[in-house]
Amino acid sequence: MSGRSSNERDWLDESLLTDAQRARRQRKAEKRRARAEAKVTPPTDPTCVECGSMPERVKGDAIYPHRADLHMKSFWRCQCGAYVGCHPFTRVPLGRPAGPATRAARNAAHASFDALWRRKMERDGCGQQEAREAGYAWLAQQLGYEPGKCHIAWMTAEEAARVVEVCASLRRVAA
Ligand SMILES: [Zn+2]
Repeated sequence: MSGRSSNERDWLDESLLTDAQRARRQRKAEKRRARAEAKVTPPTDPTCVECGSMPERVKGDAIYPHRADLHMKSFWRCQCGAYVGCHPFTRVPLGRPAGPATRAARNAAHASFDALWRRKMERDGCGQQEAREAGYAWLAQQLGYEPGKCHIAWMTAEEAARVVEVCASLRRVAA
């Protein structure tokens, strides 16, 4: 079964299904979620980086009313309006909820950091996962995080800004 065909089925009108079909779809979705959730690491601290509150799980339509493609996805949203997405097919947050400035800082951190491990892929001819893991191990060391606890989606704006700094300093050394 391809990802695309199961995705298309998600968009079928639920009202056309019998109760038995609906129940079967739900059981399949729950199994898929359990498999996906077994493979991901939840953030050590799931609270909002902006205000420290505990977020609640919402569907995509609460955050992106005009993005029908995101309506079935789960997000975690704080009472202050900060939010974060989930690992694909799971209800596990990618990190800590963030407001616009923190999201922008994290995007900048990803732009710097992703460019770095992509260069490693080209230079060393290694795969994406290997290059990315090596990149995160290096980043954790640079920033003083425990190995495996360094994830851009878990960071505050200040922490994300430091990612940009250390990636830039590596480029200067390498140049
Ligand atoms: Zn908050």
